[in-house]
Amino acid sequence: QVRVRFAPSPTGPLHIGGVRTALFNYLFAKKNNGVFYLRIEDTDQTRFVPGAEAYIMEALEWLGIAPEETVGKNEKFGPYRQSDRKAIYQEYADQLIHSGWAYYAFDTPEALDALRKEHEADGKTFIYNHHNREKLDTSLVISADEVAKRIANGEHYVIRFKTPVDETLHLKDIIRGDVKFETNLLDDKVLFKSDGMPTYHLANIVDDHLMETSHVIRGEEWLPSMPLHVLLYRAFGWDAPEFAHLPLILKPVGNGKLSKRDGDKLGFPVFPLEWKTEEGTSSGYREKGFFPEAVINFLALLGWNDGTDKELFSLEELVDAFDLNRVHKSGAKFDPEKNKWFNHQHLIKQNDADLAKDFTPILEEKGFSTSLELTTRIVSLIKERAHFVSEFWDLTDFFFQAPTSYDEKASKNWKEETPALMQELISVLENIADFTSANIETIVKDWLTKNEIGMGKVMQPFRLSLVGALKGPHLFDIVEIIGKEETISRIQKAIS
Ligand code: GLU
Repeated sequence: QVRVRFAPSPTGPLHIGGVRTALFNYLFAKKNNGVFYLRIEDTDQTRFVPGAEAYIMEALEWLGIAPEETVGKNEKFGPYRQSDRKAIYQEYADQLIHSGWAYYAFDTPEALDALRKEHEADGKTFIYNHHNREKLDTSLVISADEVAKRIANGEHYVIRFKTPVDETLHLKDIIRGDVKFETNLLDDKVLFKSDGMPTYHLANIVDDHLMETSHVIRGEEWLPSMPLHVLLYRAFGWDAPEFAHLPLILKPVGNGKLSKRDGDKLGFPVFPLEWKTEEGTSSGYREKGFFPEAVINFLALLGWNDGTDKELFSLEELVDAFDLNRVHKSGAKFDPEKNKWFNHQHLIKQNDADLAKDFTPILEEKGFSTSLELTTRIVSLIKERAHFVSEFWDLTDFFFQAPTSYDEKASKNWKEETPALMQELISVLENIADFTSANIETIVKDWLTKNEIGMGKVMQPFRLSLVGALKGPHLFDIVEIIGKEETISRIQKAIS
């Protein structure tokens, strides 16, 4: 059975890179009738941020890609929070010590630092492995009794992995194909610390095994950890899951990795939801007025496509089309303008009444309340022009209030003969009994034809009187909606 996980560390807000990882795991699980679960990797207590875990859950729920199993939900292989699994890891660390795949090391941070500097001075990189592990303060050189005594004395130690020597690892990544690693270039990574906590590497492998993870789908930044992870599976005698490392998300210009700072500069959120900290609030996709479907859609296309030009997908369609083998190797550029386009596409697909409901609080804030029916009609006339519901007010204000000024450039359409023509238009309008868009249009146009008056001479000043600018939807729809009295009063005001 396919079982995949999103395994974030709750160290702060959830960036779009993390959300994309969650999404690809979700899609892969659903496509293969598998399970998508969420594991909280909080073994690094120094980086723990309160509220981050709840935030991750909320973000996934808002996006519609909630996990099937997680903390407090179908805890089949629980607990799903690593800090609640502490007791488990100790046992596995001990197992590696006994099998000779790991060893105790007592080096102080100062000693390691000095060694690193010494290497750097010689223009070399310091690698903690067979090159020097036997010269350091490790259980490979101290007697077993001495090791036991020092641990009993409460001395700080770590357990390090004993990387095999002189081996070329040929590993398989679903996205990258064959990848080669030289074990001599790998560090003997720390697996366990004397505070009783495992490091990410140990906890991650133990949990992926115990939780029966079939595929590890994660960001490219974890590719360098893959050889250690595969060696750990070997050390435990377990089958390794399959790996797929997703391409980096790059900033819109240049080649760097997208960062929060880039997002801030672009006025573009890199968080899916608003994130609150002591210092303040970062606005997210929800607050900017993005639809979750739109966020899902553009994230899915960051590094993947279905092999055609198709760009618009619902979540169901994505599940249907998703294929890890079609994920690209090269970095995916983040394009804020394109993201807005996606939101527009999803906006126009929404039901008009739902959009009207979203618009109502904005109207109320401006001091206007109309029936939902009317708001729905107004929304249907302008939604083609909007990327966000927050833009609706600027596109519709003239439905609710008379213009207080007239666009200066457009005022050049206002000629000497205009007031007289507008006065005649008022008389025409006054006599229309059935004041509906199509009927008003027919009557006004008949009047223009009969009197051989050019369309532009009347229509542009007419629009300017009602809207204050030469913008807005079909003029006669506006006329019908604001009504006869208001229409005439606005024309009068314009010519006075
Ligand atoms: N806890 C790691 C992270 O924060 C998980 C990486 C992985 O998926 O193995 O991304």
